[in-house]
Amino acid sequence: MRTNPVSFTPIGIVHSPFREKFGIPRQPGLAPQITGSIELLPPCNHADCVRGLEAFSHIWVLFLFHDTADKGWRPTVRPPRLGGKRKVGVFASRSNFRPNPIGQSVVRLDGIDSENGNTILRISGHDLLDHTPVLDIKPYLGYSDCIPDSRDGYAQSAPSTLAIRFLPAALDQCRRLAESGHGDVEAMIRALLAQDPRPAYHQRRRLDKRYGMKLGELEVTFEVAGNELLVTGVSPSVANDKR
Ligand code: SAM
Repeated sequence: MRTNPVSFTPIGIVHSPFREKFGIPRQPGLAPQITGSIELLPPCNHADCVRGLEAFSHIWVLFLFHDTADKGWRPTVRPPRLGGKRKVGVFASRSNFRPNPIGQSVVRLDGIDSENGNTILRISGHDLLDHTPVLDIKPYLGYSDCIPDSRDGYAQSAPSTLAIRFLPAALDQCRRLAESGHGDVEAMIRALLAQDPRPAYHQRRRLDKRYGMKLGELEVTFEVAGNELLVTGVSPSVANDKR
């Protein structure tokens, strides 16, 4: 049996410091320091649409993997948690390459700003690319959504993390950025890079390579040796200056 195609109109759009996929945590909650927002779009931007939501600490965000939606999908994928070596079925994965490219993330709801007909949800701890279209928002319900004795297949616990070290000049730059109102840049970088954003095959082959990650208006450069990641530079991003 076949069913008719369905189409949805996004109810909101994500504003995030993640301007590219590289460096985004692979799941929400892994870098709680990272903030962002969801701007509700007409006709869902009316304050009535979120009445009562402020009483919830977390929300489910259902969204479109818009940046990879045109790349198709395969029945099996190689999750980074399995070192990119073993295949599992697409429905046994949280891959963005899916038949219907829909993602779901539980994020912290830090507040709701409603004024002049605009409604903005302030969020943190997310794994969402800038400009991600949001399809739906629902309150997280601890009594039902949290299953303490769940069986978690190949992802029994949070991924292991790397030790992070900064070159003194990079640390100085973080401190200067913090003093000029950019927030705790050092803590954000530590949380993100501890997750080891390198593709699984780079991790496996221990490639000696320099990496660059964009974070908001910043470009962060780093190298990895063994289990230690060295942050070599933090500077304003040239590419973002042109945006
Ligand atoms: N928590 C969601 C889920 O389980 O459905 C997403 C998991 S997916 C593995 C997370 C990755 O998707 C991020 O690390 C980032 O590389 C990618 N991503 C985030 N937003 C995206 C978007 N709008 N389009 C394509 N890829 C995106």
